[in-house]
Amino acid sequence: MSTHTAGPAPGPAPDPAPGRIPVMLPWLGEEEARAASEAVLSGWVAQGPRVAEFERAFAARVGAGHGIALSSCTTALHLALVTLGLEPGDEVVVPSLSFIATANAVRYVGARPVFADVEEATGNLTVATVDAVRTPRTRAVIVVHQGGVPADVHALRTACAGWALPLVEDAACAIGATVGGESVGRGALLAAWSFHPRKVITTGEGGMLTTDDARWAERLRRLREHGMNVSAAERHASSRPVAESYLEVGYNYRMTDIQAAVGLVQLGRLDAIVARRRALAARYAQLLGAVPGLRPVRDPGYGRSNFQSYWVLPAGDFPVGRDKLLAVLAEAGISARRGIMASHLEPAYEGHGAAPLPVTERISRDSLILPLFHTMTHAQQDRVVAVLREQAGA
Ligand SMILES: *Cc1c(COP(=O)(O)O)cnc(C)c1O
Repeated sequence: MSTHTAGPAPGPAPDPAPGRIPVMLPWLGEEEARAASEAVLSGWVAQGPRVAEFERAFAARVGAGHGIALSSCTTALHLALVTLGLEPGDEVVVPSLSFIATANAVRYVGARPVFADVEEATGNLTVATVDAVRTPRTRAVIVVHQGGVPADVHALRTACAGWALPLVEDAACAIGATVGGESVGRGALLAAWSFHPRKVITTGEGGMLTTDDARWAERLRRLREHGMNVSAAERHASSRPVAESYLEVGYNYRMTDIQAAVGLVQLGRLDAIVARRRALAARYAQLLGAVPGLRPVRDPGYGRSNFQSYWVLPAGDFPVGRDKLLAVLAEAGISARRGIMASHLEPAYEGHGAAPLPVTERISRDSLILPLFHTMTHAQQDRVVAVLREQAGA
């Protein structure tokens, strides 16, 4: 989401500023520190056996055939579009309501992002909003599971199959979210994941692509490593000298074994993290029921969110504006954030052109993300709700 925080990630230490309520804290502990230390002391710190193990464990967790660990979700999205063979002049339908990396990935392959609107309840693309902007030049669609709220991928996959358009899933925020009882990413053509500290599990920086296609997976492993036909890890493991060749122009998009070691521990925490986030989200929903004019994000009928971002949308006639609300919360020692950004309104997309995107603009102008982290106490939640309630005049 737009609160793609830069800078150092807060560690396991409680509250960096005592009394202040942060918007998010990664759930990291001694186990992650030990795993990273073991990787360092093993002498193998670049992409190696721990990356391979993390890929297998992650793919198994989301029900995909293959996982390709990468340096970020942004590079994962880039390689997804390289895999699809996109070229300059091609159009890719994307939501504007997303972290800007979604649209930028389309630019990396020289194609043109065409912004589609979203539905207000989930913040996600729908069949109708995609249909409204696709043209004969459309070559692919990227759907985002925004803030961890799953998009209706069954409907979107069916529609895209009918239009003969590949559907890429930006699942940066969505590890642990489900559709029809199954993990987001299951059955996806290509799904891209993020392990940035603002997401549900973290490796510091890092990403993953998952797919069921073995030949794509093989090519993706090459593409992340300069297009080499033999990986550095394979070469190292061989007792004979191995001459590599470079089959196409690739990239250095590798993850390190230090990151993967941390990722393996984080994966083991995933169920606990999601359970905690869902419990806190349910409590927010109940408390916010007493605040008139604030609509909290909730599970869609077809799936379950991991509540990576807990956002609320004030009604049009809410007594105070969003930015004022953020200021009042900040004064009370509460770090909330603007809601999801609208990429088409950023200077990087000035003059780019877009169909009217009224829902996107409304959500990005008016919504805010409330604090939600595993160590959040009920008292802290009550403090947040008390401020909102007062501002609502209730
Ligand atoms: C965070 C995010 C990204 C980028 O992830 P990185 O791993 O930081 O590159 C892409 N898309 C969405 C929807 C995101 O929230």
